Amino acid sequence: MKTVVIATNNKGKLQEFKSLFPNVNIKGLADLGFTDTIIEDGNTFKENALIKARKIAKAYNSIVIADDSGLEVKALNGEPGIKSARYASEHNDALNNEQLIKNLNGITDRRARFVCALCIYFPNDDYRLVEEYCYGLIVDEAKGSNGFGYDPHFYSLDLHKTLAEASMNEKNKISHRAKALRKLKELLNEDFSLK
Ligand code: IMP
Repeated sequence: MKTVVIATNNKGKLQEFKSLFPNVNIKGLADLGFTDTIIEDGNTFKENALIKARKIAKAYNSIVIADDSGLEVKALNGEPGIKSARYASEHNDALNNEQLIKNLNGITDRRARFVCALCIYFPNDDYRLVEEYCYGLIVDEAKGSNGFGYDPHFYSLDLHKTLAEASMNEKNKISHRAKALRKLKELLNEDFSLK
């Protein structure tokens, strides 16, 4: 059975990968004892996913999958973008949301999308990148208590409610991350038989 390292400490993300690749031995960073901070200094989600995946693959000589994700708002020229986790200067969901709604004050175009880039990196330096999106509108009033991050202010055009009002099951059908995972799986089935 092949082993693939997922460059995350997030148990939810690991679980998603495990359910998608039942015939692969999935390990997280905690399983490797990896505690270093990786400086994500890329200019795009894809660049950051590649930086993370490459760094871990080199350190452990293994196949690695890394992700990077965030929110892009059209009227804010794609902000918060790769700064999504620290839009309000620290990683705090409530402050980030406050900053977002403040910056959209008086703006009627509320079109936005979540982005998820995934990179799979092989010990021989071969790699593949995929990116997927989830489309919606930013609403001033926070609604729902599920999910995380910007979910309470993100009205999904697929689900007709905010992502924080959606169940995990509903979100997993349309989310940027779930779509990127499915795309990666298709690509791996074709290219690398990581079935
Ligand atoms: P990361 O890729 O886990 O570092 O996520 C970056 C940031 O983007 C998070 O801290 C959230 O603020 C935001 N984000 C990414 N995906 C989602 C999502 O599915 N819902 C809400 N916020 C998200």
